[in-house]
Amino acid sequence: MSDVIRIKDFRRRDPPIESRGYPRKCLHKRVVLDYERRILECRDCQAVVDPFEYCASLAVEMDRYNQSRQALTTEIDYLRKTHDELKNDVRNLKRSKKRHAS
Ligand SMILES: [Zn+2]
Repeated sequence: MSDVIRIKDFRRRDPPIESRGYPRKCLHKRVVLDYERRILECRDCQAVVDPFEYCASLAVEMDRYNQSRQALTTEIDYLRKTHDELKNDVRNLKRSKKRHAS
């Protein structure tokens, strides 16, 4: 028997969506609030959406957004620093060229 642990063994096991009264899982992301029936409905396929699942997916999406934002902020800082260094190099080269020309 192998000692390799398969990734699929770590996946969370949710109860089947049907068991919670939600007939089918919708993979769309846009919902409409039906205030009269107090439900979330998919804007694209009109499936009734599990509110907890929807909130959880928003939380995951927000985490990804924040990680991307942080990575982009780091990249922007690096590019600004590199840009400033290159600007200084150009200025110094121009000064050096003037000195050598005169
Ligand atoms: Zn849908």
